[in-house]
Amino acid sequence: MKCPNCEKQGIDSECHQDSVDVGVGVIYGPWGCPECGWSEDSEYDLSDDKDPVNEKGGVIDQYGGYHPPGSSLAIDYMLARMLAQRKEKE
Ligand SMILES: [Zn+2]
Repeated sequence: MKCPNCEKQGIDSECHQDSVDVGVGVIYGPWGCPECGWSEDSEYDLSDDKDPVNEKGGVIDQYGGYHPPGSSLAIDYMLARMLAQRKEKE
């Protein structure tokens, strides 16, 4: 599907959907946009500059996924944040 949020801004972006095969069938997550972070599920919608990092240091993504503290994505966010804070101090 096309991203409704990008469409408003005249950007043509194709959404992505995660799926998990649980043996008896395939479960699909919410549609998410790789371009702007929009998600079909408002809880995971990152398009409005929402902070994907929760108080525990875990990170959500627009595809309905959760990356616990210590996972590679959570570490990436932590490092990016540390670098940003360092730049602010300079
Ligand atoms: Zn989008």
